[in-house]
Amino acid sequence: MKLTIEKTLISGIIIAITGVLAIVVISIRQSLRLQDGSAIIRHSHEVIRETQEVLNLSTRYELSVKNFLLTGDPSFVDSLDSDTSLLESKIRALKELTADNPSQQERIDLLLNYVHKNRALLDEATRMSRGKDFQAAATLIATGATIGYSRQIQIQIDRMDAEENRLLDLRRRASQGVASGLQGVLWVLTAAVCILAMVVLSKVKVDLRKEKKVRDELSRFNRELEQRVRLQTAELQESEGKYKYLFFKSPLPKWIYDQETLQFLEVNEAAVRHYGYSEEEFVRMKITDIRPPEDTPRLLSDVEESIASHEDSRHGAWRHTKKNGDIIFVEVTAHPIEYGHRKARMVVVNDITERKRSELLLRQLNEDLKKRAAELATSNAELERFAYIASHDLQEPLRMVSSFLQLLQKRYQGQLDEKASQYIHYAVDGAERMKALILDLLEYSRVGVGKDSFGAVDMNGIVAEVGDIFREKIIATRARVEIDPLPEVHGDKVQLTQLFQNLVGNALKYRSGEPPVIRIRVTEEPGGWLFSVGDNGIGIDPLFFEKIFIIFQRLHNKSDYSGTGIGLAICKKIVERHGGRIWVESTQENGSTFFFTITNHQ
Ligand code: ADP
Repeated sequence: MKLTIEKTLISGIIIAITGVLAIVVISIRQSLRLQDGSAIIRHSHEVIRETQEVLNLSTRYELSVKNFLLTGDPSFVDSLDSDTSLLESKIRALKELTADNPSQQERIDLLLNYVHKNRALLDEATRMSRGKDFQAAATLIATGATIGYSRQIQIQIDRMDAEENRLLDLRRRASQGVASGLQGVLWVLTAAVCILAMVVLSKVKVDLRKEKKVRDELSRFNRELEQRVRLQTAELQESEGKYKYLFFKSPLPKWIYDQETLQFLEVNEAAVRHYGYSEEEFVRMKITDIRPPEDTPRLLSDVEESIASHEDSRHGAWRHTKKNGDIIFVEVTAHPIEYGHRKARMVVVNDITERKRSELLLRQLNEDLKKRAAELATSNAELERFAYIASHDLQEPLRMVSSFLQLLQKRYQGQLDEKASQYIHYAVDGAERMKALILDLLEYSRVGVGKDSFGAVDMNGIVAEVGDIFREKIIATRARVEIDPLPEVHGDKVQLTQLFQNLVGNALKYRSGEPPVIRIRVTEEPGGWLFSVGDNGIGIDPLFFEKIFIIFQRLHNKSDYSGTGIGLAICKKIVERHGGRIWVESTQENGSTFFFTITNHQ
């Protein structure tokens, strides 16, 4: 705005100066023209004066001659010669003065001619009079008068005067015209300058008004800005306060260190608590002082790297040394910050010593566990091999014992007393039970680990097959078997048949006084199937829910219920081979339900 006013003023002044200069130039030019006019007027006056002088001289000359002729007094013609030369010089001067005017030149020539002639006439009359020929002199004068030279002189002078007066008049009028023209121009220019001044003034006034408005707006804006700055400063102070609180009261150790000198600049309370150094001790130390010396080279190269990389934050795992010499494992996050005018880094420390210890312990435990599992697998495999070999190899001598016993019984029938027959019977029974045990053990050991025999198995077919196996027993015990429509699963057909055979067999074996009711159910669940085989038998004490799945564990006497205690162990092994688990729910009033899952995984 100020610029606009300055521009207006400057352009106004420039225009005004130009106007004034124009006035001055025009004035000078016009006054020069006026000067020229007055010189010409003066010149005209001079010409008129000179003509009058010429006329006077001529008249005086004529008068002197005539007086001499009348009086005969020679003193009248004494000065004739000087008068003559004066007259001629005046005429010459007149001719020079009117050199620019040809008509005047002509008149002067004529005048000069008449003056010469008149003089010649008068000189002749004078000479005659000196010779006393007064009559002739008088006649000559009279002739001269008749000819009228002096009159002609008079006429020429008058004409010249008239001409000069006319010129004088013209020049006066021209001068007046110039003067009034000059006046007009001056008035116009003055008026223009005045108008210009007024225009400039009003423009300046408008600009000033505008400037005032802009100034007002500017000061309002300034006030608003000040207010905003005040507000932001307050917010900044508040956030600085918050930051300080967060820094100092943080439960994690934090510090700020100088990026160049590595000197601690500020530490929080948690750092003082955790490391055992006081704040004063900290600020006298460098970050290298809280590290095992062998870590210093890595730390220095890390600092260099972080300066070069311009990262927003840098994470790292380090070892720190406390004041008491304890070495701790920490995770450190560092952010570059400006501290005063120094390049610094703010560090947050997370002590992970405990976690590290637990991880180490866990790793050790895991390794132990793996080792134990491997050992167990080896010993299991050995056991299975042993069971297989033992049961397989035992069959032969057992068969021998059993057949010889039977042979003994047959051959000596009637020859042995009752006691001996009973002993042989016990021996045959023992051999039979041992055979059963060996067969079960063989079965157990055959539930191998490979999945080669796995395929799609229709459970309906399996259950039907199991029903066929127990047909006679079902009829004999008047048992009722309820079966859900069963799915197709991925598994080993022989083993799954064995599984159902064992469970259904147990349900029939451990029946109560009532006719057995066996329910085979299935429900789909995420990732597989949940099967159940329920009965209304004698039930199982919850104390033994786990125990019954362990090999050779039996809850009953062989005299009450025959068996080897291997059946459920085989079931467990089969289910586990199919990726599932097996358990039992039972009450002595309602019987038992065995649940097992089979996964869909191939
Ligand atoms: P075994 O039947 O040859 O004794 P198992 O391993 O099949 O061996 O069973 C272990 C024990 O679990 C049995 O001795 C029996 O006491 C108990 N048991 C198994 N099935 C049932 C059932 N359906 N009802 C009651 N008890 C059962």
